Amino acid sequence: MSIISKRAAGISPSPTLAITAKAKQMKAEGIDVVSFGAGEPDFDTPQYIKDAAVESINKGFTKYTAASGTPDLKKAVCDKLLRDNGLEYKPENIIVSVGAKHSIYNAILATVDPGDEVIIPTPYWVSYPEIVKMAGGVPVFAATKESEGFVLTAETLESLITSRTKMLILNSPSNPTGGIYSRESLEAIANVAVKHGILVLSDEIYEKIIYDGAEHVSIASFGEDIKALTITVNGMSKAYSMTGWRLGYAAAVPEIVKAMSSIQGHSTSNPTSFTQPAAAVALNGGCEAVDAMVKAFDERRKYIVGRLNDIPGVSCFMPGGAFYAFANISGLYGKFGKGKLIKTCDDFASYLLDEVKVAVVPGSGFGAPAYMRLSYATSMEAIKEGLDRIAAAVAELK
Ligand SMILES: *Cc1c(COP(=O)(O)O)cnc(C)c1O
Repeated sequence: MSIISKRAAGISPSPTLAITAKAKQMKAEGIDVVSFGAGEPDFDTPQYIKDAAVESINKGFTKYTAASGTPDLKKAVCDKLLRDNGLEYKPENIIVSVGAKHSIYNAILATVDPGDEVIIPTPYWVSYPEIVKMAGGVPVFAATKESEGFVLTAETLESLITSRTKMLILNSPSNPTGGIYSRESLEAIANVAVKHGILVLSDEIYEKIIYDGAEHVSIASFGEDIKALTITVNGMSKAYSMTGWRLGYAAAVPEIVKAMSSIQGHSTSNPTSFTQPAAAVALNGGCEAVDAMVKAFDERRKYIVGRLNDIPGVSCFMPGGAFYAFANISGLYGKFGKGKLIKTCDDFASYLLDEVKVAVVPGSGFGAPAYMRLSYATSMEAIKEGLDRIAAAVAELK
């Protein structure tokens, strides 16, 4: 008998965390690595948010809170969802978790039974299929096209629905592609979800990181029917540079929130007490810090995509949101680097790391083997240096 459960054995480790860990280790060994692996903003958490947490600690707000989050933070989340997303919710519709990832985990565990199918558009964020598998569910992948902005069409969705379909997972803006769903495309998807009565898990963590004046739309805002089926997930990590704080939240019908809260109550209990008043301050505050960050990301976005498209054999979609360039590198497959055949994105990522000390995340982890992901949540200087190295490494291919 194996000491490891079938559940754990069926899960793959996160490839994005693996590549960042390897690059960090190389750096620690004194190797001059340029890392495009990061899945987090390179900006510090704004000072007023830090101050709020310190104040809470000093006031002794260091004990257990309600398992699903403090009433104050739930109220701040309700206010935010109404103000930014046009969604009217009461505190009983809200759960605060240990990061958006934790809210997603709770939501899937609370709704998906063994054998249930969950439709996941590709390319996908690495954790969705793994969490579905942890619940015993079956990930069903829905292809999207780069030429359509990596957006799932209502037709593709409908073609994949069976009697076992329980949920659709949406992520707009998307990690890894940066694709964003227009109001029209989202409304068409909402109609299909309502027609078939399937749940929608809407991961809106990159909502604030959006370019060219685009509009972020929450699928739950199209009416009571779709709202009742939607679990909207968001969090502090990306918009407020608070990845290490571990704080996210979800909004859904009370029945789902109650089930999620029970799971959370028996696993982590409450998110860290003193991060919650700080998150409320962040949500109730202005957008200046986010706006400044997005301005910096936007400059880098245009630069990195331009440089990638200048490399023969590489092409890159202009992302509409998030902070990743998702480049098609299939034009390089079949060439040789230092005598080794490059057949896959993993081969190319290894070639870059070994030969020019540049860390990128191969698309295989996102269900997109023709691609590589470069995070531009790093300095312009590092981006320039990294792109010089990648261009030189590609020029060496035979
Ligand atoms: C970063 C990320 C998350 C997780 O955010 P946390 O709040 O830090 O758990 C969820 N979804 C996507 C698509 C992400 O990129």
